[in-house]
Amino acid sequence: MDGSQLRVKFWGVRGSVPVSGSPFHRYGGNTACVEVRCGQHTVIFDGGSGLAPAGAHFVAGGSSETTVLFTHFHYDHIIGMPFFLPIYYPGNRVTLWSGHMAGKMTTRQMFQQLMSPPWFPVQPDLCDAKMGFRDFKSGDVLHPYEGVTIRTGSLNHPGGCIGYRLEYGGRAFAMISDTEHVEGVLDPVVLDLIAGADLVVYDCMYVDSEFEKFRGFGHSTWSQGVRLCEAASAKRLAIYHHHPMRDDVALDEIEIEARRKFAGAFVARDYQEMEL
Ligand SMILES: [Zn+2]
Ligand SMILES: [Zn+2]
Repeated sequence: MDGSQLRVKFWGVRGSVPVSGSPFHRYGGNTACVEVRCGQHTVIFDGGSGLAPAGAHFVAGGSSETTVLFTHFHYDHIIGMPFFLPIYYPGNRVTLWSGHMAGKMTTRQMFQQLMSPPWFPVQPDLCDAKMGFRDFKSGDVLHPYEGVTIRTGSLNHPGGCIGYRLEYGGRAFAMISDTEHVEGVLDPVVLDLIAGADLVVYDCMYVDSEFEKFRGFGHSTWSQGVRLCEAASAKRLAIYHHHPMRDDVALDEIEIEARRKFAGAFVARDYQEMEL
């Protein structure tokens, strides 16, 4: 592929817990995982259950180096990590990054706890890939590869969460999941991360009619995503982190309604790919 291309692939678009079956057939059921390909480099945001098919794809394609950045460590964002095949292959290099627990838990500690009995039978010393663990704090600017700049900021989510803005080749991708908004307020941290972005992936767990009931759960709505994208002149909005009970019919309706308000809005689905 062209060295300046910025490509996005959704491997998991659900929040909370994976789902399967005919009601979810079209949009998919894997949890949080988005691949951003910057030329030859692969950057992945979150390791939900979508990380498992992503890993199988990378191994089949001979990819040897992957960077995974976690927004936070809730199950729906890490559960695919033990099933990410590249970590078991010698010759691979897998680097994990996190920052929302700066000073409280390192990325290495999270990985060691996740990969240990009784939660999982395989321990980290059985990972044959060269594993790298990196820690940062909110606000830091990361450079995982030459030409790839990632800015970070704190989102409003129980236990903390990091929002990301990746810039490569003059384009910008923003990952804003998970976060809860305050009604009538446009979060300045989010506005800064998504300013003029070519694509904004946003936590749209709830619809407006549900929001009041789930205040404090740490999630937002597609209509807030639209308001933020309009205010920040972002080009496209990926409605993401779908409620596990939101079936294809409900998501179709959301997409129609969201597009009426913001032409660049769409409901993200598993395996969807796009070039920015
Ligand atoms: Zn989540
Ligand atoms: Zn969460």
